[in-house]
Amino acid sequence: MNRVIDACERSGLPIYFTRDWHPPRHISFKSRGGPWPPHCVQGTSGAEFHPKLRVPPDAVIISKGDDADAEAYSGFQGTDLEGRLRKAEVGEIFLGGLTTDYCVRLSTLDAIKAGFKVNVIEDCIRAVDVRQGDGARAIADMRQAGARFVASGEVIKMMASTQQ
Ligand code: ZN
Repeated sequence: MNRVIDACERSGLPIYFTRDWHPPRHISFKSRGGPWPPHCVQGTSGAEFHPKLRVPPDAVIISKGDDADAEAYSGFQGTDLEGRLRKAEVGEIFLGGLTTDYCVRLSTLDAIKAGFKVNVIEDCIRAVDVRQGDGARAIADMRQAGARFVASGEVIKMMASTQQ
C-alpha cells in the first residue's frame, strides 16, 4: 500500500484514507450485542493508522462509524467521501486495505453504485474470514458488481505512465 501511495503522490493524484472512528460504546462492540471486540475507539492508540503506513500530510482522512448507534463498514456511509470525490473530479478509484469481507467489500459496492470505476488492489487487501470463505465470497461479490482486480505492481506502472 505504501508503494501505491508513493506512486499516487508522484503522479499528483488525490489520496483518501478511511478509518473507523468509534465512540467508546459503539453498536458493533460485543458489549452492545455486536460482533466485534472494542476497536478503533476515538482518540485512542487503537484508532491510529498503523505506524508503518505512510499517510501523506495532504491526504484526506475520512472518519466513519462515529455514530454510537450505527455501523459503517463502507467509507461512503455517513461520510462526505462521495461529495469530496466528485468535487475533485475523481472518476476512477484504486482501493486497498482492511478488510476484504467487510470494509473493502462495502466501500467497493457503494463506490460502484455511486458510479465510480473501481479497481481493488488485490495484494493490498486481507479478509477476517470469520466464516471460512468469506474473503473469497466477498471478492466474487465485488467482481460481480463490476470491480476490477489489479496487482499493486500494475497500479504503480499505470500511475508512472500518467504523470500529471
Ligand atoms: Zn468498526
